Amino acid sequence: MNGLAEAAGSFALTRWVSRKTRPGFERWQAAALRRFLDRDLPRAPFYGKAPARLTDLPVTDKALLMARFEDFNVHGLNASLAWAALARDGRAGALTVGASTGTSGNRGLFVISEAERYRWLGAILAKATPDLLWRGMRVAVILPQNTGLYDSARKSRLIKLAFFDLTLGPESWRGALEMFDPTIIIAPPKILRHFAAENFRLRPKRVFSAAETLDPVDRPVIEAFFRLPLDQIYMATEGLFAVTCRQGGLHLAEDSVFFEFEPAGEGLVTPLVTAFRRQTQIMARYRMNDLLRLSDQPCRCGSPLRCVDEVVGRMDDVFRLGSADGPILLTPDVLRNAVLKADRRIDDFRLVQIGPDRVELGLPPTLADDAAAAARQAVQTLLDTRKAVVTVTLVRAPLPLETGRKLRRVECRLEQAR
Ligand SMILES: [Zn+2]
Repeated sequence: MNGLAEAAGSFALTRWVSRKTRPGFERWQAAALRRFLDRDLPRAPFYGKAPARLTDLPVTDKALLMARFEDFNVHGLNASLAWAALARDGRAGALTVGASTGTSGNRGLFVISEAERYRWLGAILAKATPDLLWRGMRVAVILPQNTGLYDSARKSRLIKLAFFDLTLGPESWRGALEMFDPTIIIAPPKILRHFAAENFRLRPKRVFSAAETLDPVDRPVIEAFFRLPLDQIYMATEGLFAVTCRQGGLHLAEDSVFFEFEPAGEGLVTPLVTAFRRQTQIMARYRMNDLLRLSDQPCRCGSPLRCVDEVVGRMDDVFRLGSADGPILLTPDVLRNAVLKADRRIDDFRLVQIGPDRVELGLPPTLADDAAAAARQAVQTLLDTRKAVVTVTLVRAPLPLETGRKLRRVECRLEQAR
């Protein structure tokens, strides 16, 4: 297999599709989806045959994909072999195995072929750097180690890709990163913010927040430090789902994924994704855990791909409380805004539902007492307005940089809610 040809082909396709009109794009996408349903999907034992329509297929989720892992990939690779491969070097024959971070029972496994890795790389380059020359580009990717997707470009002469393991902590590779002098940085927002706080010597041309929800509170700090607009790559174990264009629009990756949306209340939706260019691990009508706010405006850049106004957070982190009128749900964005609007001095916090009627608000001791009290009161008032039966406790403690898990400022730790 010629990896660079795969990457270049994918790059060209991604660029070509982005210049179509919306009706033209939808025709192309419908044909590509049909081809996937007829040719690729039936090769996974879970499906066996092509459906008449996509919507004839059952909705899938992580629990199902993990429980019947070998039935969803066309090579019959089972989960225990995949975990064993991951523990070694992430290779299972010609396939690459990766996994999401998360608690042990909750990690998602993925398997992709060599060709898919290069296609993924080509697509992400086409979206992230359409106006930058490949040659001389230095891309620093700072993510947890177990994402085997990124190894593909390391040896290419066209671009230099350097990988820095988030879990080792920034102190261990700060010197190497500064020496590498990346032109593009892809990292979780908490790490980009850490670069600002610690004044790392970096001068990228483009900076992408990835792998965690980008909270509005982090954006100004990061943008001021790099003197650049902060862009986003919305991706998960399950693939690449959206990338910011040069006009600032966060475009869904509809050129490789067909999206259906389920309403989640408060104007938010959760996506069902069908990855119609994946041929190894079949993913169809897969329910993501994320909460999105879709944009109703087309982007100024002219791309036919629809835009997301905001990736609000995870469905897992919706607060579930009792009230006089029965059970109620509160989405992470509403809770976050209540804290941040309480006082302008607040630029970091943790808000955790720790019991059916208990919520804990964590604020650093460096924040003024009156600001902390105002934030606690704002959360209490919001919950009272919804008639929630709940006690909000204020905890004053430092909020250290955690590199071993995803940062979630609003988090629901009710096991039974999952
Ligand atoms: Zn755009």
